[in-house]
Amino acid sequence: MARYPAAMISFDFDDTLIKWGSRHFEDLQGDGPAARLFDRAIAAGVPVAIVTARWPELEAQMARIGAGVHQWLAARGVPEGRVQVVLTSNQPKGPFLAELGARVHYDDNRAQCASAEAYGVHAILVV
Ligand SMILES: [Mg+2]
Repeated sequence: MARYPAAMISFDFDDTLIKWGSRHFEDLQGDGPAARLFDRAIAAGVPVAIVTARWPELEAQMARIGAGVHQWLAARGVPEGRVQVVLTSNQPKGPFLAELGARVHYDDNRAQCASAEAYGVHAILVV
């Protein structure tokens, strides 16, 4: 049977993979609704990216309170380099997703979903 390379799946981070109880970044609630799907994709060997609108300074600030993207990956036992992590610095994600070759993107932000769709990447709104 022919084997085909799996398409890349992409996830937003804040309020998609992790869930905040407030927007003050003091109230981390834990895994968000897409985290189990993320785990299954990792286990299945599917190419996975995390595309977050965080900018580098915010990511560094989040890491100081234990909410950095790479900390989250390490805590799940995801090997370094297994997941491509892209910080868009609050820019629309569509161009980044297209560059990565992502086929599907999960995001809690409607505007980011629209940006993905504008670049031919199927978006799924996570609520
Ligand atoms: Mg988000």
